[in-house]
Amino acid sequence: KPKKRLPARAYIDGVLKGDRVILSRAITIIESNLESDKSLAKEIVQEILPNSGKSIRIGITGVPGVGKSTFIEVFGLHLVKLGHKVAILSIDPSSQRSRGSILGDKTRMDELSVLQEAYIRPSASGDTLGGVSNKTGETMLLCEAAGYDVILIETVGVGQSETAVHGMTDFFLLLMLAGAGDELQGIKKGIMEMADMVVINKADGDNITMSKLAKRQYQNALHIFPASESGWTPVASTASAIKNIGISNVWNEILNFKKLVDENGYFIKNRNHQQIKWMYNNINEELKHLFYGSANIKSELSELEKDIVTSKISPVKAAQQIIKEFKNSFKHS
Ligand code: GDP
Repeated sequence: KPKKRLPARAYIDGVLKGDRVILSRAITIIESNLESDKSLAKEIVQEILPNSGKSIRIGITGVPGVGKSTFIEVFGLHLVKLGHKVAILSIDPSSQRSRGSILGDKTRMDELSVLQEAYIRPSASGDTLGGVSNKTGETMLLCEAAGYDVILIETVGVGQSETAVHGMTDFFLLLMLAGAGDELQGIKKGIMEMADMVVINKADGDNITMSKLAKRQYQNALHIFPASESGWTPVASTASAIKNIGISNVWNEILNFKKLVDENGYFIKNRNHQQIKWMYNNINEELKHLFYGSANIKSELSELEKDIVTSKISPVKAAQQIIKEFKNSFKHS
């Protein structure tokens, strides 16, 4: 059933004024799968677009238990103290499978969440990677238009959403623990390669020596990866989220990164590249839907499957044939 909605203008003005209630309601529309909401969402995003982008976008990942929410709370508080407005979007893959939530079932970021300068929102990304890019990506644009100048996008570093998050952020931060092997931590090598910074968390108490060792090991490992186009050499550091140690250092490294990529042009170049890629990803998705969603194509495909297993037609020829029919279907319509 259609929900009660305001006119688009009300959302646009509210977001641009930084009204948090309206911002939340606008994000709900972004996340909605109702057709009427989808067109409303497009209108809102289109209108706020000129006011988006003025932020640093930071992806933060690490397995459950590494200390992400503890870290983000102290990091966020630090940023607010420096005068920033921080939006935190958490992508929780477990909720996509409706198996309860890794991120949601504990009280998170109590101190930060009550501040006017912080906006925390679990990001419902739907079932697909495309959903992460589109819904979380558009939510990010709204937050920027509402005046948040640091965007933190949090993922549980075990799934595939990290790639999507990497594709929409400027800086990628990986939280790790000392003493646990990469495999144990469930962190894929691909994720290590995306990292601009690795922070060994829980470097406190008995863990300090091990953490320093781990930091050196990661520092060495990060040097082995091919040089990034950004010109930035990834860094490793230690931190204790609980004791609030090493937190300002993380921000300082991000500022170093920002300075470098502003000066060498990579910041803008990467943002532009991400925007264009975002469009192509959507075209690819839409084309797939158009093709596989057609009833004619579906029935034709099941025929071709039979013909392939009985060697009546080769897989390559079958593919060409059905694409040809697909093209013809546009000529006649
Ligand atoms: P998340 O699942 O990655 O969000 O991790 P949490 O922030 O919920 O932290 C998991 C557990 O690790 C909690 O019991 C935290 O209190 C603890 N923890 C987080 N950061 C630190 C730290 O810097 N040092 C220590 N000793 N424990 C920490």
